[in-house]
Amino acid sequence: MSKQGKLKIIPLGGLGEVGKNMTAYEFHNQILVVDAGIMFPTNDMVGIDYIIPDYEYLRKRADKVIGIVITHGHEDHIGAIHHVLNDIPAPVYATPLTLGLIEGKLMRNNASAKTSLNKVQAGGSVEIGPFKVEFFHVCHSIPDAVGLGITTPAGLVVHMSDFKFDQTPVDGWPTDFAKLAEFSRRGVDLLLSDSTNSERAGWTPSEKVIGPAFEKVFADAKGRIIVATFASLISRVQQVADATAKLGRKMTLAGPSMVDNVKIARKLGYLDIPDELLVPIDQALKMQDHKVVIMCTGSQGEPSSIVGRLSSGTNRQFDLKQGDTVVLSSHPIPGNEETISKTINRLLRKGANVIYDAIAPVHVSGHASQEEQKLLISLVQPKHFIPIHGELRQLRRHAKLAVEVGVPEQDVMVIENGQIAVLAGGKITLGERIPGDYVFVDGESVGDVDFDIMRERNKLARNGIFLIDISVDKLNGRLLHDPEIITRGFVSQEDAEALMPEVRKRIMDVVNEGYDNEKDIVNAVRTYLYDETKRKPMVLVTLSKG
Ligand SMILES: [Zn+2]
Ligand SMILES: [Zn+2]
Repeated sequence: MSKQGKLKIIPLGGLGEVGKNMTAYEFHNQILVVDAGIMFPTNDMVGIDYIIPDYEYLRKRADKVIGIVITHGHEDHIGAIHHVLNDIPAPVYATPLTLGLIEGKLMRNNASAKTSLNKVQAGGSVEIGPFKVEFFHVCHSIPDAVGLGITTPAGLVVHMSDFKFDQTPVDGWPTDFAKLAEFSRRGVDLLLSDSTNSERAGWTPSEKVIGPAFEKVFADAKGRIIVATFASLISRVQQVADATAKLGRKMTLAGPSMVDNVKIARKLGYLDIPDELLVPIDQALKMQDHKVVIMCTGSQGEPSSIVGRLSSGTNRQFDLKQGDTVVLSSHPIPGNEETISKTINRLLRKGANVIYDAIAPVHVSGHASQEEQKLLISLVQPKHFIPIHGELRQLRRHAKLAVEVGVPEQDVMVIENGQIAVLAGGKITLGERIPGDYVFVDGESVGDVDFDIMRERNKLARNGIFLIDISVDKLNGRLLHDPEIITRGFVSQEDAEALMPEVRKRIMDVVNEGYDNEKDIVNAVRTYLYDETKRKPMVLVTLSKG
């Protein structure tokens, strides 16, 4: 079949980083979006709730976006959907569980969709403008995940989002190898595939191995068991439920996102948890300790999660008890290691027994390791390959694997967010560069916090603040009263007091010498504070004239 037209592959998130996955495909001015995820902030992103992709390119062409396809219900794929739909009301396509989770998210964010939410089934296909999208089942750590075959006149693209080749998945539904082989027969012009574990040799163990690990931990536990994971790790919830039933305990859910997701997944038939196994949390808290399993969020030590609050003693509904067993069932997201480690220490200090994957296999990855990644490429036999989902080093590693299994080096392209690739005439080339940066979400504000503000926040957090309030006579410029000074997070109150007389004197010197602006005061104070303490607090001057 002769290839016609030009397909742009536009990576907006997830290439060069872990999280906020989003890719757009553009053919003849019509755009199909795949995924709309968020990324969790790292420790140095003070005050940030989460990060969404910079999709300015799509916003400017909102009328050209004809569909948004979501591959599965994890936050790094659906988390930004309410922001995106707010700007770009295009129809959404997803499998039943993914769609249910999206609906739940829209509801929680009071964002009623101004568009249609369309249910698709793995194995099915839809025509969206010039894009024929075929959905095929893949194994991952959430049920109902799909990969996509996207056919356009420019060629066939296989978009493999998160996947693993699990031969014994929790839900008994293996990856659709037959479909991958069929694509291969038709001729795949471009494969994009998940690079998360490209540095991990071998095969990712099946989810099945977790079952016995949980049973062992549960059998050993004398008191309550508290299992923390992501609210969207639905397969893990099933395994915890199974172990709970086997050991004769009851399970309860804590935290709104966990309660919501489990409700949706049970209603749609993706979780098999009998009614009598689940008890409401207030009832569970009155039961004997050895009868209870509490499933909650916070495996990454997030301060606002249940486990985060338990560790700091600020959880509202219940406290940690001596003898509780806390199981953290997830791998640390890069950048979170320190937070998790601190959380574990705090939990231990409060008398809990803490189980995490360093001491028991209570988590396996949901992502393909090297052998699976190579198998996929060998199976699909793509003419071109672009690694997606990963930091640059993981993308590069994945690219190497592709070359190892026979994709010619010149047909493998490593690109990061914002670098468009073009598929035309059966060849792939670099296109234009567009924005592909972070958009920070801080409460109600989206994109108002930028790197400058982040630097200020970090400076404040590291060095504290020194606030000087002065009033001068508007006629002669003399001070009306002594400068008022407040400091926070800088030095101890005593040390600050000791510095004050000289600080006041220096301020008065500047003012009395006829200063030009507040900067002179800031500089004089800063120099003195640095000389005395070797520290650089943020110095702020407010000036009023009376
Ligand atoms: Zn995922
Ligand atoms: Zn993902």
